[in-house]
Amino acid sequence: MTKQKGNIDIKTENIFPIIKKFLYSDHEIFLREIVSNAVDATQKLKTLSSMGKVKDELGDLTIHVEVDKKNKTLTVRDRGIGMTAEEVEKYINQIAFSSAEEFVKKFKNKSEAESNAIIGHFGLGFYSSFMVSENVEIKTKTYKKGGSTKAMHWECDGSPEYTIEEIEKEDRGTEIILHIDDENKEFLEDAKINELLNKYCKFLPVPIQFGTEKIQEPIEGKKDKDGNQETKEVEVPKIINDTNPLWKSKPSDAKEEDYKEFYRKLYPYSFDEPLFHIHLNVDYPFNLTGILYFPKVKKDYELQRNKIQLYSNQVFVTDSVEGIVPDFLTLLHGVIDSPDIPLNVSRSYLQSDGNVKKISSYINKKVADKLADLFKKDREGFEKKWDDIKIFIEYGMISEPKFYDKAEKFALLKNTDGKYFTFDEYKKHIEKTQQDKDKKTVFLYTTNQDEQYSYVETAKERGYDVLVMDGALDSHFINNLEQKFENSSFARVDSNTIDKLINKDEEAPSKLDDKQKEEVKTVFERNINKQTFNVVFESMSETDLPVVIMQNEFMRRMKDMEAIGGGSGMMGLGAMPETYEMIVNTNNPLITKVLEEKDENTQNQIIKQVYDLARLSKNLLKGKELTDFVKRSIDIIE
Ligand code: ADP
Repeated sequence: MTKQKGNIDIKTENIFPIIKKFLYSDHEIFLREIVSNAVDATQKLKTLSSMGKVKDELGDLTIHVEVDKKNKTLTVRDRGIGMTAEEVEKYINQIAFSSAEEFVKKFKNKSEAESNAIIGHFGLGFYSSFMVSENVEIKTKTYKKGGSTKAMHWECDGSPEYTIEEIEKEDRGTEIILHIDDENKEFLEDAKINELLNKYCKFLPVPIQFGTEKIQEPIEGKKDKDGNQETKEVEVPKIINDTNPLWKSKPSDAKEEDYKEFYRKLYPYSFDEPLFHIHLNVDYPFNLTGILYFPKVKKDYELQRNKIQLYSNQVFVTDSVEGIVPDFLTLLHGVIDSPDIPLNVSRSYLQSDGNVKKISSYINKKVADKLADLFKKDREGFEKKWDDIKIFIEYGMISEPKFYDKAEKFALLKNTDGKYFTFDEYKKHIEKTQQDKDKKTVFLYTTNQDEQYSYVETAKERGYDVLVMDGALDSHFINNLEQKFENSSFARVDSNTIDKLINKDEEAPSKLDDKQKEEVKTVFERNINKQTFNVVFESMSETDLPVVIMQNEFMRRMKDMEAIGGGSGMMGLGAMPETYEMIVNTNNPLITKVLEEKDENTQNQIIKQVYDLARLSKNLLKGKELTDFVKRSIDIIE
């Protein structure tokens, strides 16, 4: 066959300017397309060989990527099945372009972003190389024998015209030579190609060689005086990928250490070990493999989305997995590999895709099952991890009702003694003691064991149990639990006096009558800030404190919401003033003493002191008032 010219079979106008224009922002993907074509051709050869359909020895199947800066070429060379002249005609001149054409027709009037999202869907694969090249050559020789199986050379300069001729080519397989254009010189830099191969090709199933690396090689027969093997530095071809990534192996074949090592491979810049992993492995009703890691997060702000990498048959596709895995799991790390996810389509399309929904709910279920399993098999170990994983689980329970249904069996509550309970265990634990007069169970909690110490202690003295709810999501989580738990409510331990929080209708008789209360109130109001503190009376036990300051649960939740940008501010009511209740214990001897005291100055002194002490224990005494309090206290001692 002599050199022939032909026109690529297209019916629309010149397609190349459009390819360049539309794909501009994402042009680096060309390398992924070309290399994965080489991988496909190699895999096909292996399959044919295993069926006995290949005559030759397969030999070394490594794919080579080479940059020639002087000649401005980037070459990808494989030893796969290659193509015959007819196949070049069929797969390159016709098929490839017909889908490119379809793309152009459909997306001529769409924005760049929309087109990018849909591009791979049409298998523009090979032609994406024209985004960065002024000229592309293919040299290919089929594995087939006899007939018209000569090696072929195809060349095209980015117009619909191409040339094709027979050439001599010794080796089986395909060589794609990209003549990189001036605008895209960056793809002639080793560092850039290295970066892209690392991003897209790190786990492809066929070895890919690019550049060299220096390693220490043992020198035969040479040992130093301590008997250690001597080595020398040698430069060897560098294989950039791991052809057998751990997620492809059977979970039963992998050891704990393998998972840790793989984590380090995925995140070479992370110093922390993951808490644990979940190995995903299904082939029905869809194909999905992967490993999800629960990362160790020390601070909530370290939580990062988009650390999960999505692969399709080991080809990296994206690390933006929203819509594919349940929202709360986007906070995990790891890898998901599925050829069944339509990878190159828009997000909104993805989210409505039936397959994707199934995959999402499978992952959801699998994660819940794994956690349930861990809990069942090793409760102690699970408890140890709980504080670290709680944020993920609470997020899941709040956002996914299906996850809640599974998680309610293993989710834990921790009390101030550091003991862990499941929901059922805890309900049983407080069922008898913490029921109020209306048979409602009151869950007491603290958000800060130091700041709310005295309130926690008071509750414990009554024989009550207090939960620690100091996590970033706990305020939401509590709302969630209140909706789920029947006939229950949650109250922060400092939101009222303990006997009001769990109102058993057993109030002790008051030692003061109404007239005496009025008198006490007058003394208080002389000495306190009336705008902020509202004096109320309660007859508690003699041994309870004379005065406690509370902010009721409702008020505080509104304030909390205001702080995170909701609440009354959002409802147009303006910022809410900070107000508290000052609860005076009518039965405390000190209060009786105030009433009996004739000297107004002494009365004021006592009230000022208890007022300040109450504020101090609520962390409300600051600045000049705090200094005055210290001075006054010293005077009293003197
Ligand atoms: P896709 O890979 O999605 O089919 P491409 O445009 O990337 O689309 O490739 C078109 C076809 O060209 C491939 O399906 C394959 O038959 C052939 N081809 C491309 N690269 C190679 C290669 N390196 N070796 C053998 N055949 C190839």
